[in-house]
Amino acid sequence: MSLCLSVVVPMYNEQDVLPLFVERLRPVLDELGEPYEVVAVDDGSADQTPVLLQRFKREWPQLRVLRLRANSGHQAAISAGLGASRGQWAVTIDADLQDPPEVIAEMLHVGRSQNVDVVYGVRTDRSTDTAFKRSTARLFYTTMRRLSGIDAPMDAGDFRLMSRSTVDAVMALPEHNRVLRLVVPTLGFPSATVGYRRDERAAGESKYPLSKMLKLTLDSVTGFSQAPLRFATWFGLIGFTVAALMLLFALWQKARGNVVQGWTSTVLIVAGFGGVQLLCLGILGEYVGRIYASQQARPSYYVAYDSLADDRRADERD
Ligand code: UDP
Ligand code: MG
Repeated sequence: MSLCLSVVVPMYNEQDVLPLFVERLRPVLDELGEPYEVVAVDDGSADQTPVLLQRFKREWPQLRVLRLRANSGHQAAISAGLGASRGQWAVTIDADLQDPPEVIAEMLHVGRSQNVDVVYGVRTDRSTDTAFKRSTARLFYTTMRRLSGIDAPMDAGDFRLMSRSTVDAVMALPEHNRVLRLVVPTLGFPSATVGYRRDERAAGESKYPLSKMLKLTLDSVTGFSQAPLRFATWFGLIGFTVAALMLLFALWQKARGNVVQGWTSTVLIVAGFGGVQLLCLGILGEYVGRIYASQQARPSYYVAYDSLADDRRADERD
C-alpha cells in the first residue's frame, strides 16, 4: 500500500488540546478518501500526551506515535516526523489548532492541480496573535529575507505541504538546527501558497517561550547569513581606525607636554573597546559553536519509540 499523505504533528505537553485536535483532524483526513498516516511526534512531553496518544491510537489505526527521548524543540520534532513519514506528500501542522486542519485538503488540491512540490500555508489574518508575537514575527521575516536573500514567503510558519522529493531533499541535508521555513525555500522546488486565518490556540498554553523564540532566531540568522560576521569585521575596522587616531592624538598631546588629563578618555577606551571585543567574540562564538556541533554530527533528536514497529509485529503475529 502506498500512502498518499503523512500528517506530521509535533506535540509538547499538549494534553489539553489533543482531544479537540483529533476530533477535528480525523474527519478531514477520512474525507480525503486516500490512504494516509498521522505521525504524532511526542517531543518528550511530561504530561498525559503519550497516554492519550496511545488511547486514540486504539480506535484510529492511521495514527502513528513517535516518541522522542527528550524535549528537542519544535523544529527537531518536525524533522523527526518528516524523517519517519512515508507518504507521497507530507504536511506539517501544529497540534494547537492554530493551523486549521481543513486547509490540508486545499493544500493537497493545490499541490496536485498546480503541479508544485511545496504548498506554503500563509497567514492572511494574524489578528488572534498578540501584538508582541506579530511584531516579532514581522521583524523576523523582514530581517531574515534581507540578511539571507532567501525568498521565504512572509508569514509562512511551519504549516506546509511538501512532496516526497522535497522531504527527501530536506532530510538529506547534513545540517543541524534546521530552520525548515527557511531551508525549504532554498531548495528551489516549485511552490504555491494557500492563505488561511490563524486561529487562537484552542486549549493549553504556548510552548514557545521567549527563550525558544530567541533560539529559533539565532539558528535562523547564523544558519542563513554571514552578515553578523561581516558586521563584526566592519566594527573592528572602525574601532581600529578610531584607536589609531587616538594614538596620534595622544602622541601629539605628549609632544605638547599635556599628559596627565584624560581619565574620561581612558575609561571610554577601556570600556568601549572591551565592549566591541566582547560583542565580536560573541558573534564568532555563535558560529564556532555551530561548526563544533555540526562537526560532532550528533543527531538533534533521538527517536525512543515508533508505534509502527509495534504495528508491524502485530501484523506478523496475525
Ligand atoms: N512544540 C514541540 N516542542 C517544543 C515546543 C513546541 O513539539 O519544544 C510543538 C507544540 O506542541 C505545537 C507546535 O510545536 O504543536 C507549536 O508550538 P506552540 O503552539 O506552543 O507555539 P506558538 O503557536 O505559541 O508559537
Ligand atoms: Mg501555537
